[in-house]
Amino acid sequence: MPDNINLEHFWMPFTANRQFKSRPRMLVGAQGMHYITDDGRRILDGTAGLWCVNAGHGHPKIVQAIQQQAAALDYGPLFQMGHPRAFEAASALVSIAPEGLNRVFFCNDGSEAVDSALKIALAYHRARGDGLRTRLIGRERAYHGVGFGGIAVGGIAGNRKHFGPTLAGVDHLRHPLDIARNAFSRGLPEHGAEIADELEQRLLALHDPSTVAAVIVEPLQGSTGVILPPKGYLQKLRAICDRHGILLIFDEVITGFGRLGTAFAADYFGVVPDMIVCAKGLTNAAVPMGAVIVRQDIHDAFMAAAPENTIEFFHGYTYSGHPLAAAAAVAAIGVYREEGLFDRAAAMAPYFEDAAHSLKGLPWVKDVRNLGLVCGIELESVPGKPTARAVDVFLKCFWDKNVLIRTTGDIIALSPPLIIDKPQIDELFGAIGDVLKHQQ
Ligand code: PLP
Repeated sequence: MPDNINLEHFWMPFTANRQFKSRPRMLVGAQGMHYITDDGRRILDGTAGLWCVNAGHGHPKIVQAIQQQAAALDYGPLFQMGHPRAFEAASALVSIAPEGLNRVFFCNDGSEAVDSALKIALAYHRARGDGLRTRLIGRERAYHGVGFGGIAVGGIAGNRKHFGPTLAGVDHLRHPLDIARNAFSRGLPEHGAEIADELEQRLLALHDPSTVAAVIVEPLQGSTGVILPPKGYLQKLRAICDRHGILLIFDEVITGFGRLGTAFAADYFGVVPDMIVCAKGLTNAAVPMGAVIVRQDIHDAFMAAAPENTIEFFHGYTYSGHPLAAAAAVAAIGVYREEGLFDRAAAMAPYFEDAAHSLKGLPWVKDVRNLGLVCGIELESVPGKPTARAVDVFLKCFWDKNVLIRTTGDIIALSPPLIIDKPQIDELFGAIGDVLKHQQ
């Protein structure tokens, strides 16, 4: 590590700060499928950064678009002013969104996009004169970012318990992970669609459907350790929401932009929500950006409810639709399309699935689950030391195998860039397998 770097001042996010600083893992460059470390090693990126660099690192078209935009218009306000790139980015996003979702609200990341979607849902019902719909329903083990709205509907205890009561009027569905019935499923689990019925039978029965504004789910729960929707589960949620006039929001921060081999998980599952929350791959992570893609009539309800010369939605961020982010989004969506990366991910998924399931039978492996280019490998925990085994595997992969993986609890979660090839898939799972064979 360079001598002039002082590690003390930076309080690192979602990091064991003291452990990291005792032996830093520093990335100084990236190209394609690889990171470069400060000691000159090439590290295979098994996680697309944080599920976000879908087109691979340093794509020249995205880099160039950002450079040119910075030179032409570094910043332009979007409150009562405009700049063309933001409109272009919205149209580019709509061009790959499910039909009917054609209005875009920009923000800066997934957390802001979640909070924006929740606000849109609440304000939409009010604009229609149905202001009693104020409840929000999330799900156990859900990750919807770290804003107060997101942690309220989220269901990861560690992300909630330190921060008090958050929002009132929020309830949670049961998560659909059922290892006892579905262990080592390839693709979607067979069992568990009936868990969706609890939305109607338990939560709506308890609260009365007319008080519920929206249900928010990740179509595939990523950050909590890859929880897949059982076959038919999302279709049931859609039908229940339709029956009761409740908005269905898909948080596609991870599943958007080709992760499942389609533009959005909504396309993969054939279930169209009322809003899609996205971020990460929107700009290939080169500049922060998030967005909510909204059904037109939801947007139009705001327009109808306010006089023409007034602000229709009292919400926005200084950097909503920032020129650099918008330029990166236009370029990234162009790259996905020109290089056929969503189809490429779909084509590579069966090979990825076989490689993932080759780990079955290795020490401590209690489940493998996969879909598209996402895979979760759940390990038996060390008694009394949850997370310790997976973190150890992560460290050995990084230091000894030159492979970057990600862990959550005792689950390894993999989500490589969509440009990964077969030898790299072999290298990724081979490294994990080697480490597991010798793991205590
Ligand atoms: N929603 C989901 C499903 C996510 O996976 C994440 C981040 O991983 C977020 C929201 C939050 O996104 P961000 O970290 O960009 O705020």
